Amino acid sequence: MKFVDEYREGAPALRLAQAVRRLTTRPWTIMEVCGGQTHTIVKSGLQDLLPPEITLVHGPGCPVCVTPVELIDSAVEIAARPEVIFCSFGDMLRVPGSARSLFEAKADGADVRIVYSPLDALKLARENPARQVVFFAVGFETTAPANAMSVWQAAREGIENFSILVAHVLVPPAMEAILSSPNCRVQAFLAAGHVCTVMGYQEYEPIAQRYNVPIVVTGFEPLDLLEGIQMAVAQLESGRAEVENQYSRAVRRGGNRPAQQRIAEVFEVGPRAWRGIGEIPSSGLRLREAYRRFDALTRFPVALARAAESSECIAGLVLQGLKKPKECPAFATRCTPETPLGAPMVSSEGACAAYYLYGRHRP
Ligand code: SF4
Repeated sequence: MKFVDEYREGAPALRLAQAVRRLTTRPWTIMEVCGGQTHTIVKSGLQDLLPPEITLVHGPGCPVCVTPVELIDSAVEIAARPEVIFCSFGDMLRVPGSARSLFEAKADGADVRIVYSPLDALKLARENPARQVVFFAVGFETTAPANAMSVWQAAREGIENFSILVAHVLVPPAMEAILSSPNCRVQAFLAAGHVCTVMGYQEYEPIAQRYNVPIVVTGFEPLDLLEGIQMAVAQLESGRAEVENQYSRAVRRGGNRPAQQRIAEVFEVGPRAWRGIGEIPSSGLRLREAYRRFDALTRFPVALARAAESSECIAGLVLQGLKKPKECPAFATRCTPETPLGAPMVSSEGACAAYYLYGRHRP
């Protein structure tokens, strides 16, 4: 497949890994931000190709993993209302809330449906004028344009039985929160290529300067990641801290301006709680006043009660790169994809799921 197969070939992968070996003179810790990148790294065994001085740690870029348990509880409560059709991407259904997941709510009779786009949910709202259709708007900057578009379109068509439960998070504030932590061990970032396709990478430049940290915008295939690692190591070894773009076949410095404009028209930046990490200022999106009537939490007020996490789950430490999934005592024993204790074991982008699927038998 064009633009895929050529980024998975073995010989160039070995050449890139050898280049990293030649460059490396001391230990470096590099964090890939996105859960999709984590899955490629673990599935392809990239860590095994690298010299032992290079440690890859996995970041908070799995939107399902960082959606707070309180919001899952709110989703379950809204979904249980008889007038509601609750729509979500499939990943969210099995994420445990404090009492039930959306999947369990569906089993108990709630009308919970999997959709592949917020516009599918909007179509359901058009087709079911007597019902209230709620879409669970989860994701980073990558999914924000489509979610903004659905609300904009609903307003334009006067579809008043559509709303979204907003759980949008932003990457740069999370990177700053990780770098500001006294326990931070991250020395370079591989930024998420798809997020930068939308947002560009200008907003990473002040972060690279302020924290003296190299940031390489990186794609998702094995060769993308190896090249991103090579570029990060070259910067670390030479004492540079710049933003570089490995994913130039998709990313421009300014990003996708029409998508940014649609996001800015519908959403505004606000504080957001991250599961396992806590509240990070200016790290989320919420609907602007002009579109607030499409906010599911305004339409269906629910008490956002603080909910307890599993006491065994160390997802917060995993998402900040402080621990690896295999260091969790519950990994692959009490916590498996069939019996998840935390969101990173459920999501198709979760680090714990990646280690379970591809790495649990590796030493
Ligand atoms: S293995 Fe399970 S319990 Fe441990 S951090 Fe991952 S999700 Fe949480």
